[in-house]
Amino acid sequence: MPPHPETWLRVTPQGLYCEPGGFFIDPVRPVDRAVITHGHADHARPGHQAVLATVETLAVMRARMGEGGAGAVQQPIGPGEVLEQGGVAIRLVPAGHVLGSAQVVLDWQGSRAVVSGDYKRQRDPTCAPFQPVPCDVFVTEATFALPVFRHPPPEGEVAKLLKSLALFPDRTHVVGCYALGKCQRLIRLLREAGWDRPIHLHGALAALCKLYESLGVALGPLEPATVANKAALRGAIVLAPPSAVQDRWARRLTEPVVGVASGWMRVRQRAKLRGVELPMVISDHADWDDLNRTVDEVGAPEVWVTHGRDDALVHALGQRGIRGRALHLVGLGEEDEGGTEAPPATGEGDAAAVRGVAAGTDVAAVSRGEGL
Ligand SMILES: [Zn+2]
Repeated sequence: MPPHPETWLRVTPQGLYCEPGGFFIDPVRPVDRAVITHGHADHARPGHQAVLATVETLAVMRARMGEGGAGAVQQPIGPGEVLEQGGVAIRLVPAGHVLGSAQVVLDWQGSRAVVSGDYKRQRDPTCAPFQPVPCDVFVTEATFALPVFRHPPPEGEVAKLLKSLALFPDRTHVVGCYALGKCQRLIRLLREAGWDRPIHLHGALAALCKLYESLGVALGPLEPATVANKAALRGAIVLAPPSAVQDRWARRLTEPVVGVASGWMRVRQRAKLRGVELPMVISDHADWDDLNRTVDEVGAPEVWVTHGRDDALVHALGQRGIRGRALHLVGLGEEDEGGTEAPPATGEGDAAAVRGVAAGTDVAAVSRGEGL
């Protein structure tokens, strides 16, 4: 009888720990041996001794934290490669979240756990698609694990931006998007939709775009968004971190149309409260349907939920006879959509809007500001 994963994969204050292998996955504190799923700062933290990750994730870590911050010893693991550590076979399989993002597949004595990190199932032209791996325990996030969160096709959201540009050709369209992943995905989607003019970047987004290009993701003409030369930005697309689109930086642009690309834009009230004229529901996380579909595809009798709306997901799994377990890992979901966009960071109204959704309030009612 193979050992149950809970006997060899444990929750510790540093994060998930694989005991026979002697390594942590996405630890929140510096450790001797870390396996990192992807480069977002809540998963890839500085100060580890040895780091095992994909080539792309290691490159992202170096770009963001410097050579030293990405681990004293950096060990890349390629597609299809299997590494043995204390009798545990380790594989990294694409998670479809951002460039280099991977699920960690662990096999020990006939028992298999898959730690998926953050993931999505929607098409993303900037990274390899998620690959379901059958397992005994599937470890999942739950950032958007409420039935109200259904992400529409991103092509339609990009079409809204292009339509607005056609309607308001003199206004600068500034779109808030996260620096790692969302920004580059948005650029590629715009290129696919036929936008071949330069796309202007806030300084905080430039370095990772350059890195994506060096790793083979072509982004087309990119230029710095210089507010001093705002006349040149009339009718242009400017991308900036979500925090920057709401501050003075963006207001100095010419009659800006403010957009934000995030799964949270599904909550209309949230967009309104933040002064977002053009909400674009584009997420790098699985929505409710895709979370449930993925669990079904991997066929795991037991699912562990790291962070997010674990209560709703565990309940839904239970109804299908799948044992769900909330791990309550701390420190996750603090950066990308799980973090800067998460409740209740921007005020009570926001928190109330999401609570309304959580309580099962119809999202149309939330968008009308009712039922809260
Ligand atoms: Zn992430």
